[in-house]
Amino acid sequence: MSNPENSNAALAARDLKHLWHPCTQMHDHESVPMVPIVRGDGAWLIDADGRRYLDGISSWWTNLFGHANPRIAAALAAQASTLEHVIFAGFTHEPAIELAEELVRVAPPGLERVFYADNGSSAIEVALKMSFHYWLNQGHGEKTRFIALSGSYHGETLGALSVSDVALYRKTYAPLLLTPFLAPSPDSYEGEPGESPAQVAARRLQDLRVLLERHAHETCAVIVEPLVQCAGGMRMYHPDYLTGLRALCDEFAVHFIADEIAVGFGRTGSLFACEQALVTPDFMCLSKGLTAGFLPLSAVLTTTRIYEAFYAEYSAGKAFLHSHSYTGNPLACRVALETLAIFRDEPVLERNRQLAAHLARRLEPLRGHPHVADVRQTGMIAAIELVADKATRRPFPSSERRGLRVYLHGLRQGVLLRPLGNVIYFMPPYVVTEQELDLLVDTAISGIARAVTD
Ligand SMILES: *Cc1c(COP(=O)(O)O)cnc(C)c1O
Repeated sequence: MSNPENSNAALAARDLKHLWHPCTQMHDHESVPMVPIVRGDGAWLIDADGRRYLDGISSWWTNLFGHANPRIAAALAAQASTLEHVIFAGFTHEPAIELAEELVRVAPPGLERVFYADNGSSAIEVALKMSFHYWLNQGHGEKTRFIALSGSYHGETLGALSVSDVALYRKTYAPLLLTPFLAPSPDSYEGEPGESPAQVAARRLQDLRVLLERHAHETCAVIVEPLVQCAGGMRMYHPDYLTGLRALCDEFAVHFIADEIAVGFGRTGSLFACEQALVTPDFMCLSKGLTAGFLPLSAVLTTTRIYEAFYAEYSAGKAFLHSHSYTGNPLACRVALETLAIFRDEPVLERNRQLAAHLARRLEPLRGHPHVADVRQTGMIAAIELVADKATRRPFPSSERRGLRVYLHGLRQGVLLRPLGNVIYFMPPYVVTEQELDLLVDTAISGIARAVTD
């Protein structure tokens, strides 16, 4: 059946000869198999030996409507044979214009300007630079600092990594980075015993107020991942924190940057997570689901007020300077438009609510598991926190790589789960069925059984 030249083993060997993969100690592949995927079909990935894997993590949180989605693929093909790319300074095109119109239409009210970049980290760079430059243009060049939350992740280019607080990614490169002020995360898991998520949020807003009282004069913006700190371990918090953050940013004259790169486009139950707190940030960064997992594209949405601080005679030298060769790529914009069209044409959020409820029912019994300290969920993101000791919540040492055991078990069972340390999570494409969710949960449960025994 499988051509030996295109078998898993043959492709993996060729890969390992020249390629260098992200987020990987390449030495691991002496024991961990490299999986060559040749095809995608809905929520499934098919490898070179014909084995199928249910994509429980939407291929790094990007896929929404299934792999090789025919509707998006057709839109992409049509665009590719019409206009593939054009310089985006001095020139424009319909896909970019239409996408900006659509994004403004669906975004929280007041976000009326769209700046494109080509990946999530670049969108963060744009938001940080724009915020700093806004204050500079307003005569506040002393504002050069940022406030980020503990446990945050905003990407891995130097600026984005600067405002991230996940040690795995940050520690090594710390000497190269800006140093933000860290405000303690409103993460409910880190709350005091008996404290409700709303109470944790209220207490953490007080901490933020203290930080702002001291540093607002030198601070450009507070940057957060609304509702779920994803790469930091799918830590979740109460929407009150976002409402309070909006008020504090107004009171202390600093910007609010919402990084909706992972949580945007329906992940948390609403189209954007900020909607659940009824807030409009000063900047909203989008990527990942923006193109439903097809192509790299990102967008930074901002307000007319911020845009106007840059709008002046050329000689005033106030223009925003940030460009990427592929800014506003027509193929990516067309794919994003088709993605938004699917949200318009199909009851996506409604179906997600049913799927999320099913997932919650299936995960409920895990709360009693002797090595599970927490089962949490926000919409189509669910996470299980594995611990060595349930009573004290003492984690397994990361060196034991318990999550890796779940990953390897998943592969053997035909399921792609990719735990973040001791956190096993589900972030499936929205086209999964309840039966497929069952398979994800059952595989996680049997994987956990293997992972917690020595
Ligand atoms: C993935 C992610 C980023 C970075 O996006 P890339 O496209 O990987 O550079 C930034 N912020 C959040 C919240 C993310 O999850």
